[in-house]
Amino acid sequence: MATGIEAFAEASRPGCIFCEILAGRSEGSFVYRDDNVAAFMTLGAVNRGHVLVVPTRHATYLSDLDPEVGAEMFRFAMRAAEAIRASTLRCEGINLFLADGRAALQSVFHTHLHVFPRFRGDGFGLVMPPDFRYRRPRDELDEAAAEIRRALDATSVSPSRSIEP
Ligand SMILES: [Zn+2]
Repeated sequence: MATGIEAFAEASRPGCIFCEILAGRSEGSFVYRDDNVAAFMTLGAVNRGHVLVVPTRHATYLSDLDPEVGAEMFRFAMRAAEAIRASTLRCEGINLFLADGRAALQSVFHTHLHVFPRFRGDGFGLVMPPDFRYRRPRDELDEAAAEIRRALDATSVSPSRSIEP
């Protein structure tokens, strides 16, 4: 575990646009910042009020993120959702969205949680695969659940990745 200056150097990733914004070297429209979590507006907003919640220390993927910081990100996302609803911005609903990995449409490799207002007819949507069904067969669901339980058991003994002060 890195400490002191080494930890500081690791906290920021050269060339990462979100690290640049967090360091004040690129423009950002912030709504929040504390030691572990920050939130700013995204340039590529789905709708007005689209916020990104990010860890203040660089984490490329979810697997690089301290789970405690992940919890803080989600806690702040809930506050942001409430604030967006209470604001004058047009909002009939809220989406939270996190893309982990290129195949999942992650485009900035500093993990981030989208919080954005929705309203009917805003044009945003999810495209379902051609074989999508609302009711998958139970045996298929049970099989997938068993796979995930096996993986949960295998990872439950992993040491915590918590960051030391
Ligand atoms: Zn970064």
